[in-house]
Amino acid sequence: MTKANPMADEMRRFVGTDEKNPFEAMSERFDKAAQILGLDPDLYAVMRVPSREIKVYIPVRMDSGHIQVFEGYRVQHNFARGPAKGGIRYAPDVSLDEVKALSAWMTWKCAVVNVPFGGAKGGIICDPNQMSLGELERLTRRYTSELMDFIGPERDVPAPDMNTNEQTMAWIMDTYSMHARHTVTGIVTGKPVPIGGSLGRREATGRGVLFCVNEAIKRFNLTPAETTVVVQGAGNVGGLGAQLMHEQGYKVIGISDVHGGLVNRDGLDIPKVLDYINENKSVEGYPGADFVTNEELLEVECDVLAPCATENQITSENSPRIKCKILAEGANGPTTPKADKILYENGVFVIPDILANAGGVTVSYFEWVQDRMGYFWREDVVNERLEEKMVASFNELCHFSEKHNVDTRTAAYMLAIDRVAYDTRMRGIYA
Ligand code: NAD
Repeated sequence: MTKANPMADEMRRFVGTDEKNPFEAMSERFDKAAQILGLDPDLYAVMRVPSREIKVYIPVRMDSGHIQVFEGYRVQHNFARGPAKGGIRYAPDVSLDEVKALSAWMTWKCAVVNVPFGGAKGGIICDPNQMSLGELERLTRRYTSELMDFIGPERDVPAPDMNTNEQTMAWIMDTYSMHARHTVTGIVTGKPVPIGGSLGRREATGRGVLFCVNEAIKRFNLTPAETTVVVQGAGNVGGLGAQLMHEQGYKVIGISDVHGGLVNRDGLDIPKVLDYINENKSVEGYPGADFVTNEELLEVECDVLAPCATENQITSENSPRIKCKILAEGANGPTTPKADKILYENGVFVIPDILANAGGVTVSYFEWVQDRMGYFWREDVVNERLEEKMVASFNELCHFSEKHNVDTRTAAYMLAIDRVAYDTRMRGIYA
């Protein structure tokens, strides 16, 4: 009789058919990498699932005087390499599956760039555009107080993500500190610089994307001036990433926000575009460029396409029409596993999200270190250390991919899983 393969059984239990379910997308990549690595079935069972999923119902006194109850999550995926680390997003379509996927991606991301954190993520179902600043502050403070027993500088360190920012982090830090009865700066990263934030953190994710792209274009014998770039998203990652690439001499020919995109094949004046978006809250109406939909923007011919907005932008449906040489994934999960296969067959060089956008968590790690030291670094020191980490991780990933003859996405997961598995094995499983 053939012996049952526990890993295959587990896989059948988890892998579904929804191309756009981010947890399934994460799990499919994890399974592939685990199988190639020959991951021990016990480690596989432990690493495949989150350590903890917390759901909270958050009562908030709205400006109208009434109470509204919001649903929020914090998922802590893995602690094998250190405290859990990950952002908090506010959006109407946040789901537990999305937060679970994002928490796992944080584990793999921290391992790819070798920073001593596990992974976590949080989210609240709300529409921040419909809420006043006071309502957002009360929501953030009550959410923080519900999580007091689970977060902390040695436990789980939140950060900003979509629709949360330095102000949100300052409220979390203050609420946590009020309960702790002393100021605890290391509870969150992405804080304002004067209250324990790090210089360079705001630009870190976009800068990390730039450092990866700088390395990737060398593989195509391109210089920045010869390289055309299209960026989806004009927020913290996309906007600042596009700005930094523009400053470095890249020809940024396309950029978008949630309302649509701008294309000018002669190159866009990115600082001017960002000022326009800041003023008008939309790219619409910007003179001197063609207005396109986000779908059309992704299909513009370019050397580097950087999806820096949200998940599931490149799918089995549109991937055959993607015409870039390099895909630099600033967003988390912008590409589905089915699209991965098509891009690979079409020769697109993918800088996977868990490396491409790891600049943010790397400087978050620097911020946490500085908070614990109480000694703050110059911005050029932060940027130099970031570059060192991103370039080393990029080259390690390429080396791993060539050594194992796998695509860069699979290589990134393999590298990460191997590191987490090693640490878990050394610590032993408390079972
Ligand atoms: P942000 O809120 O600052 O900006 C998001 C941008 O994307 C905005 O320009 C918005 O208009 C646009 N957008 C939103 N939904 C869209 C859609 N459906 N189609 C097209 N455009 C859309 O967010 P951010 O911090 O820049 O994060 C963007 C992505 O990067 C997310 O996937 C996030 O998880 C990931 N990320 C962020 C950081 C960070 O440090 N901020 C770090 C790592 C990964």
